[in-house]
Amino acid sequence: MSGIYIHIPFCKQACHYCDFHFSTSLKKKEEILDAILQEIVLRKADWQEEPVETIYFGGGTPSILSNSEIETILQSIYENFSVVNTPEITLEANPDDLTKERIIALAQTKINRLSVGVQSFFEEDLQLMNRAHNADEAWQSLETARTYFDNISIDLIYGIPGMSMDKWQQNIEKALTLGVPHISSYALTVEPKTALASLIAKGTIPMPDDGEAHEHFLQLMQLLKQNGYVHYELSNFGKPGYFSQNNTAYWMGKKYMGIGPSAHSFDGVNRSWNISNNTLYLNKIQSGILPSEKELLSLNDRYNEYIMTGLRTMWGVSLQKVQNDFGEKYLTYLLKNAQKYIQSLQLVIENNVLKTTAEGKFFGDGIASELFMVD
Ligand code: SF4
Repeated sequence: MSGIYIHIPFCKQACHYCDFHFSTSLKKKEEILDAILQEIVLRKADWQEEPVETIYFGGGTPSILSNSEIETILQSIYENFSVVNTPEITLEANPDDLTKERIIALAQTKINRLSVGVQSFFEEDLQLMNRAHNADEAWQSLETARTYFDNISIDLIYGIPGMSMDKWQQNIEKALTLGVPHISSYALTVEPKTALASLIAKGTIPMPDDGEAHEHFLQLMQLLKQNGYVHYELSNFGKPGYFSQNNTAYWMGKKYMGIGPSAHSFDGVNRSWNISNNTLYLNKIQSGILPSEKELLSLNDRYNEYIMTGLRTMWGVSLQKVQNDFGEKYLTYLLKNAQKYIQSLQLVIENNVLKTTAEGKFFGDGIASELFMVD
């Protein structure tokens, strides 16, 4: 196995743009933690032979847990699975949870990578998105974290309505000043049924502009390249040696096991996902039943996933692999449909690998969907 993902489904407050699974009520926190420990044991038999190379606490907001709660989960993983000697263990953390005392205490646990949800260093952006932290906490938490953690990633959001190019550049430059070795950056997207969607519908917040987001993305690529970051996935930039091992394994199609409400798993052939409801998750686990549904992936599904992830990463889509794993029909279909993007210089074939160019990267997901094999 490659990795274990633990979903912590709690947040202090709801960010306006978010459609992940979480609850702002902490009433069931203890019960969910117990259930997570039970799920680890329930899944033990299925995955016991596989060495665990990465452990990832995501959410939600995993830093809402105390250090002893995090250590209890880690202890259970170590007791029930075979963990390699130097696993990458990531904790997603929000700046308001990262006081100096907390960072020092976290550095004494097995956590060796922090992924900090900064999103912006500007107060007005944080308020527009309803983040729980302020600009000062974003900066202070990272200054301190840099002293105690070597491997730190931060998230930044671009394409926020009203964000000028100059302000976006300042955001990137602050990250560079802090010297964080990994940056994940996403365009603000308007998901259905979020507070952001309703605020836009009421005219309170303007709709994010795709053209501005594209300009921000080009600036991000340029500045990070100049500063030695490798653009290894559409939304991820890392200094050499600091790519996310957890996410890279996912993009490479390795197995992973998701624990907790809404967590997804991949056993090498099929995907499954836990129910996205804390109460129903608890009920099932307390009855000794895994609360998951399984999807059998067809050949088309597997081809489409490979195209999607391949075009998002710097490793691209191996034409040899398409031929070997999916056959001549898929390769011919791919090459025929890729032609117009090769001509518009958004895709390129190098060493028998199809990749997005710098011009095509921002549009990679849309291009990939045009190359999908539809049933
Ligand atoms: S902290 Fe993260 S998971 Fe929680 S509401 Fe905000 S974006 Fe969503």
